Amino acid sequence: MSKRITDFILRDVSNKNESKKAAVATRLCCLIMLLYTCLFMGISFVGGSTSGGIIVAAMAIGYIFSMSTTYGKDTRLANVTFNIVTIIGIIASVIWYGWNSGIQHFLFVLVVYNILFVRMSMVLQIVSTIGVCAVRFILYFYCRYNSPIFILNENMVVSIQVISTMLVFMALMTSGIIYAIENQETEVKLIRYNKELEKIASTDPLTQLWNRYRLLQFVENYLKTYKDGICSVCLCDIDFFKKVNDTYGHEAGDRVLQEVGKVFMSEMVKQGAVARWGGEEFLIFFTDRNGDDAYTKLESIRSKIKKIVVPFDSKEIKITMTFGLVEYDYTIDLDKNIKVADDRLYKGKQNGRDQIVY
Ligand code: GH3
Ligand code: MG
Ligand code: MG
Repeated sequence: MSKRITDFILRDVSNKNESKKAAVATRLCCLIMLLYTCLFMGISFVGGSTSGGIIVAAMAIGYIFSMSTTYGKDTRLANVTFNIVTIIGIIASVIWYGWNSGIQHFLFVLVVYNILFVRMSMVLQIVSTIGVCAVRFILYFYCRYNSPIFILNENMVVSIQVISTMLVFMALMTSGIIYAIENQETEVKLIRYNKELEKIASTDPLTQLWNRYRLLQFVENYLKTYKDGICSVCLCDIDFFKKVNDTYGHEAGDRVLQEVGKVFMSEMVKQGAVARWGGEEFLIFFTDRNGDDAYTKLESIRSKIKKIVVPFDSKEIKITMTFGLVEYDYTIDLDKNIKVADDRLYKGKQNGRDQIVY
């Protein structure tokens, strides 16, 4: 039962590019107007105005039709019929019952509905609002100089004013809430999407480590924040990696890179940051670690990498890495510090690889 009611109110339009909120808002506004017209109809019949009751009944039928069209492809027909029924119904009712009927207050609901839920240009929004405002003015002055066809008695005026005031506020609140919910949902979706994009833009797809761009951002931020904080930079490179590719193929090489990435990821927790600098080269940035501390950590990383075994075609691939380490020197810039680390890495390669040069 509750599923049926939910579907009745919340069912999406079939056209994927159309907004669901317009359909839901139209249905709820139609339901509120239906409630209003039914109560008004009852008051009319009880108060002895059968013809007036028929005008309001015609409005009710119009709202049922408008609501029924929201279950199709889009809400365009519903938007149009909601406007026509409301405008014509209000004009006819005010002429019939006079300004005291209070039905003209629903023109405010129409303005809000059109601005929030009907897809149109800003110029059209302004024009339609001015149009609705003009209708209200014309009705007001019409009522000043013309008596209503049916004069409502005191009881009828009080009950219809109470009902219309409550339902106008209800319709305005409902429209506002639907609009706000959709906006909040869109905002949450955008934040999530932005985070995903940020992750894609800063991650190396093969190893899932940060890329060069993200690491530089991190380092620059660190250096700006801790102007003389102790930190260390290490550039490292897989030894004879070309041989791995040549012997086992590129796919095997990729798997080795992934395994190396996993070691860095687990070993570098709370140590600073690491990125795939390019090819089979990685850059490690140790925060709050002097060269000696970083050296100790690198020894552990070096031996873990040495223990990596990547099974491939019944063979086992093993690798080593060479590291060039420097304690950050604030008298030269980041690029120059990296250059020093690179020179030490080169030295390590020349000295037989599988070592840390510091
Ligand atoms: P060295 O010990 O002096 O560093 O020797 P090396 O063979 O590792 O050095 P070299 O620079 O000659 O070779 C690096 C190789 O890394 C060449 C390139 O094909 C390979 N490589 C770079 N990026 C990737 C990648 O994403 N996947 C794979 N499988 N190989 C890569
Ligand atoms: Mg290499
Ligand atoms: Mg290299």
